[in-house]
Amino acid sequence: MAGSPETQTPADAMSVLDYDAIIIGAGISGLYQLLRLRELGLRVRVFETGTGVGGTWYWNRYPGARFDSESYSYGYSFSQALLEEWDWSEHFAAQPETLRYLNHVADKFDLRRDIQFRSRVVAAHYQAEARGWDVALEDGSRHRARFLITAIGPLSAPTMPRIGGVDTFEGESFHTARWPHETVRFEGKRVAVIGTGATGVQTIQEVAKTAGSLTVFQRTPNWCAPLHNGKIDAAAMARIRAGYPDIFRRCQETFACFMHTPDPRGTFEVTAEEREAFWERLYAEPGFGMWQGNFRDILTDRAANAAVSDFVARKIRQRVRDPAVAEKLIPKNHGFGTRRVPLETKYYEVYNQPNVRLVDIRETPIERITPRGVRTSDAEYAFDTIIYATGFDAITGSFDRIDITGLGGQRLRETWAEGPRTYLGVLVEGFPNMFMLMGPHTALGNIPRSIEYNVDWVTGVVRFMRERGLAYVDARPEGVAAWTEHVKSLGEGLLSNEIDSWMTGINSNVEGKQTRIIARYSGSAPAYRARCDEVAANGYRELVLG
Ligand SMILES: Cc1cc2nc3c(=O)[nH]c(=O)nc-3n(C[C@H](O)[C@H](O)[C@H](O)COP(=O)(O)OP(=O)(O)OC[C@H]3O[C@@H](n4cnc5c(N)ncnc54)[C@H](O)[C@@H]3O)c2cc1C
Repeated sequence: MAGSPETQTPADAMSVLDYDAIIIGAGISGLYQLLRLRELGLRVRVFETGTGVGGTWYWNRYPGARFDSESYSYGYSFSQALLEEWDWSEHFAAQPETLRYLNHVADKFDLRRDIQFRSRVVAAHYQAEARGWDVALEDGSRHRARFLITAIGPLSAPTMPRIGGVDTFEGESFHTARWPHETVRFEGKRVAVIGTGATGVQTIQEVAKTAGSLTVFQRTPNWCAPLHNGKIDAAAMARIRAGYPDIFRRCQETFACFMHTPDPRGTFEVTAEEREAFWERLYAEPGFGMWQGNFRDILTDRAANAAVSDFVARKIRQRVRDPAVAEKLIPKNHGFGTRRVPLETKYYEVYNQPNVRLVDIRETPIERITPRGVRTSDAEYAFDTIIYATGFDAITGSFDRIDITGLGGQRLRETWAEGPRTYLGVLVEGFPNMFMLMGPHTALGNIPRSIEYNVDWVTGVVRFMRERGLAYVDARPEGVAAWTEHVKSLGEGLLSNEIDSWMTGINSNVEGKQTRIIARYSGSAPAYRARCDEVAANGYRELVLG
């Protein structure tokens, strides 16, 4: 029996905890973490806002949603049986297939029985006397656990544009990350897409196939590169399956866990002809090669970046018939690769279609959404459908939406007011027993590869604690200071850190996100893992354990 709160010891308090661990989110991170903690014998509860598993692939049902990672480099690697039985149908699978895959994983490992859907976590408060977390759901219910694990996604808090009148529109409107489960048809309709990031590009090239007319509202054009997707037949799948050990080994070795990694040569170490031939080859190859497999200096050397940008600009000019439209589609405020590069399939050719027009809202800003459509500074456009492809409040956005308090009632939001401060991107000093998966300051890249590593690392800490009867883990202030400084210093000299984008914490649609921060670890994934491995090998001496 637990005593009164005043007389409770940590051991008493533990007996009133509902679970050993609460995980927030049932995407790729949450599912795998559940499986691993269950293997340790923990009582685990997953709370998920959505009505099903899959996270990103549950929410982003917009037309054209698909991988930019090769399907077989993206799927889980931890289970040989899963690798044996799952066939991918395309090199870059579309969202419905990935969602089927994640449902298959949930069924195969019997994960659903520990997941509570329609359960948005609104608050999580650390309780010092219980050495655990008190988690509140939107429905008012409260749940207590020793460990809190956030698996809430780097790109899961959608943002709407800050434009007046959104609610007054009388047609149908959708945000791409809150797409309905029913089919949406565009035949004969006047459709608007607002936003031309990675999601916008995928949406536009798909909607343009059937819409009566399509108007694209573009604020910032992005440098896109061809995806070159293709089907995988039975023979090709057999070859991929046989090659899985090599694929995953390769992803362990590359800079960002993709199958592509920077070429060791500098842009100007080769002749102009070799350079052009190399870029032609990358541009003709499937996947992220043009971005992730380019010369090593394109993201650090201004002249190298200008040269590769010029190459891609020439491609755009070749592909878009109207030179004035082509110029609008060529970014002028950032170089190739310094923002997330959308991969595309005939995206530029869409602008050659008679039913598609491009509105540059830097020239003619949107003034408001009206009952009929969109009013810019020089015209009012009437629409049946408006699609907001306006992205996410990235990396810290899903944390900001939960009232998380740690020791002494300090708020995570306030602790991070000047930018995130973390230890290895996993722990935050003053927020004991809380682990973050794919939070700020971790290696992202080809994300499931990083997820598997982080989950295994967190599981290692929990195992270590359980074996020793420990109930408390926190980061040390000097550890947080050193890691945060390290992450900042890795960002120095990167051209991408001179650019406003979600990768530098800027979102003009979100109040208070107008100052650049370093939210992303930009070192190599192998270096990240080496540092985390070292901490584990040293018996977690760098952590405060109790
Ligand atoms: C359109 C799109 C395409 C992408 N393509 C690629 C790609 O090709 N390659 C790649 O590596 N990455 C890609 N990504 C990144 C992708 O987010 C990751 O690959 C991966 O899915 C992240 O998994 P996760 O489980 O960490 O987070 P998520 O999949 O985002 O899952 C987080 C879950 O947490 C839930 N959640 C959040 N807050 C709460 C709360 N307060 N209470 C309860 N539940 C909550 C959410 O509902 C969500 O289900 C893409 C992202 C998008 C949006």
